[in-house]
Amino acid sequence: MGGVTRTAVIGGGMAGCAAAKELVGEGHDVVVFESGEGLGGRARSWHRSEIEPSVGINLMCASIYTQMWQRVREYGLEDQLVEISSNLLVVDNGVPASLPSDSPKAVLGYRHAPRRDRFAFVVNSLKEFFLNSKKIDLFDAEKLARFDDGKSAVDYGRKFLSERGFDYMLRAQIEGFWNFRCEDISAAHAKALLATMGGVRFYVFANGMQVLAERDAEGSDIRLGHEVTGVQRSGDRVELTWRAGGDVESDVFDNVVLATPAPIAAKLTAALPDLWVDADTRRFLESQEYEPALSVSYLVDRGNLPSTTHLMAGGSADPKIRNMIIYPRMAGDEEKFLVFAYPGRAITRSLLGKPAEQQFATVTPLLKTMVPDFPADPEPFQIAERPHGFPIPAPGRYRWSVRVSQRQRPPVVYAGDYFSAPTTEAAMLAGHRAAASLSGS
Ligand SMILES: Cc1cc2nc3c(=O)[nH]c(=O)nc-3n(C[C@H](O)[C@H](O)[C@H](O)COP(=O)(O)OP(=O)(O)OC[C@H]3O[C@@H](n4cnc5c(N)ncnc54)[C@H](O)[C@@H]3O)c2cc1C
Repeated sequence: MGGVTRTAVIGGGMAGCAAAKELVGEGHDVVVFESGEGLGGRARSWHRSEIEPSVGINLMCASIYTQMWQRVREYGLEDQLVEISSNLLVVDNGVPASLPSDSPKAVLGYRHAPRRDRFAFVVNSLKEFFLNSKKIDLFDAEKLARFDDGKSAVDYGRKFLSERGFDYMLRAQIEGFWNFRCEDISAAHAKALLATMGGVRFYVFANGMQVLAERDAEGSDIRLGHEVTGVQRSGDRVELTWRAGGDVESDVFDNVVLATPAPIAAKLTAALPDLWVDADTRRFLESQEYEPALSVSYLVDRGNLPSTTHLMAGGSADPKIRNMIIYPRMAGDEEKFLVFAYPGRAITRSLLGKPAEQQFATVTPLLKTMVPDFPADPEPFQIAERPHGFPIPAPGRYRWSVRVSQRQRPPVVYAGDYFSAPTTEAAMLAGHRAAASLSGS
C-alpha cells in the first residue's frame, strides 16, 4: 500500500511522549491523545503565580537517569535544572535523624538504627555497588529480572539488617519515596537501590518536568482534552474512538501505543483479538496494582522548620504522614515555606476523590505527627491526586515485564512506568522500547 504509517499514542505522559518522539523520528505520522489539559501525566507540575519559583510538585531528576539526561542535553535544558538537597531525615516519634545517601561515613552516624545495622548497611551498599552496579538498573526491568528471584524487599533486607535497622533504614527510604509496602515488592528493587543510589544527586526542573514531554511530542499532532474510550480492530488496522468536549469521534490508524496506566490500557484493549494482545499480556496489565498518591501542600511561616528537607516516617506501621518535603518560596515579598505532605496508605485511600476542604481538614492536624512543633494555622495551598500513583513491582513482576515487553509487536504495543520501577526514567525507557517494537528495530 505504501504511504506514511499513521500511529496513535494514547496518553501524553513521559512514556507516551518518549514513544512519540522516536516514532516521529522514524517517519510515522503520530497523533498523541491526552485526556488531561496538558502533557506530562503524573510528572506534570501545577503552577501558581502567588509563589516564586512557581514549581509545583517538584518531580526529581536523579543524576543516574540516562534517558532523561540525554534529553536534557539534546534540548539544551541544563539551565532549567535546579539541584536540590538530598537531605533525608527519618523521623521516629517526631524526632528526626539524618540519613544521607551521599556518604557512608554519615550513615555510620545515623541515630535511629543500632550501630551494627549502620555498619551492615554501609558494607552491604558497598558490596552491591562493587558487585552489581554495572549489572542492575532500577529503571530497566531487563537488568532487574535476573535478580527478581520471587523474594520480597523485606526478605532481602532482613538478611543483613535487624528488624529495627530494616524499618528505619531501607524501609524508610523505599516507602518514603513510593509509599508501597516493602512486603509487597521485589527484592530486586531494594538491591538496585543499594547498588546505585549512593552519592546520587537530585534536581528539579524550574518550570516542571513536563517540559521534556512537551519537547518530545513536537512533530506529533497533539490532541489535549481527548479521552480515548475504545480501541477496536478494523481489518488489519486499529480504530480509536474518543471523547473531546461533548463530541464523540473515531478514526483508523495503522498502529497504536497504549501509554496510559496499565488497568486503563487493559480495559481499552479488552475487545482486541488474542492474536494482537495475548493472554499473558492481558493478565500482566490487569493484575498491575498501584499505590495511590495524594500531595497536600501548605504555605507556612518558617517557624522552626528545617529548610530544603525531605522528612520520611520510619518504622513498619502505615504512618499518618508518610513524608514531607519542605522548600523555601517567595510569596509576595515574604519568604515562606512550601510544604508538601503525603499521607500514609490508609489515609490516602480514604481521602481520594473527596472535596479539597475535607482533604485539608483531615491532613492538617496530622502534620504534627511528623514535626511536633509544626507552625500553627498553615495556609492550605494546593492538592494533587494521583489515583494511579506508583505501580507496585511485586516479586517476580520484573521478570514478567521482560517477557511481555519482548513479545510486543505491531499493531498494538504498551508503554508505561509499570514495566520497571515507578520513575519517569523507567517510563521514558518503556516508551522507547514500545516505539522500537513498532518499527521492528
Ligand atoms: C506523587 C508522585 C511523586 C513522584 N515523584 C517522582 C520523582 O520525583 N521522580 C521520578 O522520576 N518519578 C516520580 N514519580 C513517578 C513518575 O511520575 C511516573 O513514574 C511517570 O510520570 C509515569 O509516566 P507514564 O507515562 O508511564 O504514565 P502517566 O504519567 O500516568 O501518563 C499516562 C497519561 O495517559 C493519560 N490518559 C489516561 N487515560 C487516558 C485515555 N483514556 N485517553 C487519553 N489519555 C489518557 C493520562 O492523563 C496521563 O497523562 C512520582 C509519582 C508520583 C505519583
